[in-house]
Amino acid sequence: MPDAPGGRPAPLVAVLGGGQLGRMLALAGIPLGLAFRFLDPVPDAAAGAVGPLVVGALDDESALARVGDGAAVVTYEWEGVPAHGARFVAARGRPVLPPPIALDVSQDRLREKELCRRLGIGTPEFVPVDDRADLERAVKELGAPAVLKTRRGGYDGKGQVLLHEPQDVGHAWSALGGVPLILEAHVPFDRELSVLAVRGRDGATACWPLVENHHAGGILRRSLAPAPGVDARTQRAGERLAGMLLDELEYVGVLAVELFDVHGELLVNELAPRVHNSGHWTIEGAVTSQFENHLRAILGWPVGATSAFGVSAMVNCIGALPDPSDVLSIPGAHFHRYGKAPRPGRKVGHVTVTAADAGELRRRVERLAGLPGVDVPT
Ligand code: AMP
Repeated sequence: MPDAPGGRPAPLVAVLGGGQLGRMLALAGIPLGLAFRFLDPVPDAAAGAVGPLVVGALDDESALARVGDGAAVVTYEWEGVPAHGARFVAARGRPVLPPPIALDVSQDRLREKELCRRLGIGTPEFVPVDDRADLERAVKELGAPAVLKTRRGGYDGKGQVLLHEPQDVGHAWSALGGVPLILEAHVPFDRELSVLAVRGRDGATACWPLVENHHAGGILRRSLAPAPGVDARTQRAGERLAGMLLDELEYVGVLAVELFDVHGELLVNELAPRVHNSGHWTIEGAVTSQFENHLRAILGWPVGATSAFGVSAMVNCIGALPDPSDVLSIPGAHFHRYGKAPRPGRKVGHVTVTAADAGELRRRVERLAGLPGVDVPT
């Protein structure tokens, strides 16, 4: 473990998962004197550039022991981390934050929505589906269109099928049947938003401004922050629901909640118990980034202010990277490359553009149009 000035060891943060989120956690934590160690199944994981990487499965006990032992705190950067792996590390005496219960809940779309329902938080209408007869009944109850999703394992639009009409039951069942499912009413939302919130070990919470998110093919393409046109009532509603979830889970760290905005009413789509792609703008666009605040929270340090500087747009680079000189010639543009080999559909970097106002932001973002890997409106 490296020594900080004065001979005190730098606190070591162990991270389960070594992708770009882990990499950006370390990039935020190194100035605070933190050291990082990562566990990831692949030897060329993106976080390997910023700290030692233990290569192993996320539920391999010897690998978990190697990454967690000696750490001041253990965290995770992927909600698919097996909860029993996180609990194994906790049982060895290491604090694991956010608490593993957050993994149990967020890995199961039914539990996630039942938790929201119990707390009085709006979600799309939903019905659990375990067999084909359940699905027939659920479609009768919810009507069409509806979305059939696997309860576990789906992400970025995978593991889900849209039923346009009740006759689509056969097709949907043959696509997904055989594993526990959930049918959701298809919500005619105005737009997708997210709220990112942080809760410290002392229970203090803070939220960043709501973010507007644009997906294509199930993958986040770009975010605008603060989300345009959000009034104080809607911001408060987002903060309130996030606060209820944080308190209920006795959560510590950053939680992202994906939302549907239906004429100003917020419905929860899903939870991510980690730093989140729709919070990348906070690195340059907010007083304290999601990455720094996640670390401050899990280490028991005070969390920092979450207000925005001006306005920001975050554009993902998917499957390809633009030339740095094209990006960096745009005023207010910040380029992040993850050190990952480009493959179709793979997030390999992002660009955050900051500006003083929405007009200036739009003009700056338009200059990204046509560059490889980015999807911006023209
Ligand atoms: P998910 O994997 O649940 O985040 O879903 C991926 C995307 O599918 C979401 O970002 C929405 O654009 C869309 N979607 C998911 N569930 C619904 C729903 N119940 N109604 C309308 N659109 C949905």
